[in-house]
Amino acid sequence: MNARILVLGAGFGGLELARTVSAELGTEAEVVVIDKSDAFVFGYAKLDVMFGRTTSAAVRLDYGLVEMPGVRLLRETIQAIDPHTRTVTTDAGVHEADHLVVALGADYDLGATPGLADSTEFYSVGGAERLAEMLPDFTGGHAVVGLCGAPFKCPPAPSEAVFLLHEYLVKRGLRERSRISLVMPFGTPIPPSPDSSRAVLAACAERGIEFVPGRRVASVDAGRGVATLDDGSELRFDLMLGVPRHRAPDVVIESGMAEDGYIPVDRHTLETRFPDVYALGDVATVGVPKAGVFAEAQARIVGRNLLTRMRGGEPSDRYDGIGSCFIEWGDGLAGRVNVDFFSGEKPTGTFDAPSADLIADKAAFGARRRARWFGMGT
Ligand SMILES: Cc1cc2nc3c(=O)[nH]c(=O)nc-3n(C[C@H](O)[C@H](O)[C@H](O)COP(=O)(O)OP(=O)(O)OC[C@H]3O[C@@H](n4cnc5c(N)ncnc54)[C@H](O)[C@@H]3O)c2cc1C
Repeated sequence: MNARILVLGAGFGGLELARTVSAELGTEAEVVVIDKSDAFVFGYAKLDVMFGRTTSAAVRLDYGLVEMPGVRLLRETIQAIDPHTRTVTTDAGVHEADHLVVALGADYDLGATPGLADSTEFYSVGGAERLAEMLPDFTGGHAVVGLCGAPFKCPPAPSEAVFLLHEYLVKRGLRERSRISLVMPFGTPIPPSPDSSRAVLAACAERGIEFVPGRRVASVDAGRGVATLDDGSELRFDLMLGVPRHRAPDVVIESGMAEDGYIPVDRHTLETRFPDVYALGDVATVGVPKAGVFAEAQARIVGRNLLTRMRGGEPSDRYDGIGSCFIEWGDGLAGRVNVDFFSGEKPTGTFDAPSADLIADKAAFGARRRARWFGMGT
């Protein structure tokens, strides 16, 4: 008999894990996936929504479309996790598992940055929708893409935001009346890849975008239009594109699994310190950035190792910490950041120069996952 696998969270990690096991075992699989939402949205789609390139309704992928043999996807809110007994309590009941996989992602902690809740952010679907309503009324001024802390999801996304904002304002004839600043808590835009950082900084310079390194937004006064940075300096703004501080979901913190904010794991196997409990993706401290490509690659490793164990073998798949993220450049171009986090003493990265081909590759990336997880035609 196959073991019961309980997957918490149907994001990049949870969906890929379910797919990996289902593809091997078919109806023999016993996988339950729990998520409180009724739809999945790719992180990058929030940029498309914010800039009015699409609507949030158009980018929602309804969980009702998921049809994976041997997988049940339940819409429930997880209220408690007991990693010792692998028992999970939701608003609908209690679930027990032989193997528990926590893939609950990272939440936004708006309260950690005073005033941010009264201002605007683009990292949630709701925040992106609100900015999509506001942007057409923007008549020029100082726009700040401001990070409130690290780590944050998808390190290239804030740089994409300034490039796409630049393009948007040029098209509307507002660029000359506007200033764009990118406030980031790192010294360079994409620290693990110096080549990518150099390219981003050169593109910022070409476009007259100011990069404010080593700083984060500590508080926001939306009424006065002032962001106070962590060194006490003030930045006046007319438009705030904030990136809230991130944290593990409350239910994870309350479970006692987290240390220093997230769940520590063996970076090669994604095992937690609790037997038969795994954590992956944004909710875990793996030593790689918080991005969907990393979450899904980790999920494949956990899935394959669980399959091996169920067949009585010794798991041997190891997560390698290698991944690539697209970075939209504006004007129909995208670059790509490729980073290897584990092979050397320090991460090493390369950069693929912006091209129209890479925009097509990004579209194909989304299409493959829509097909793989939601059965949608490519
Ligand atoms: C603007 C932006 C752009 C991005 N661009 C990219 C990109 O180009 N490439 C890339 O790889 N990544 C990108 N990302 C990052 C990517 O979206 C995340 O890193 C990825 O979704 C993490 O996957 P995950 O499985 O760990 O968590 P998630 O995908 O966040 O899934 C977690 C799931 O857990 C569920 N959940 C949480 N708490 C509960 C609860 N109590 N009960 C039930 N369910 C719960 C949530 O509803 C969610 O569905 C971007 C993110 C943003 C914000």
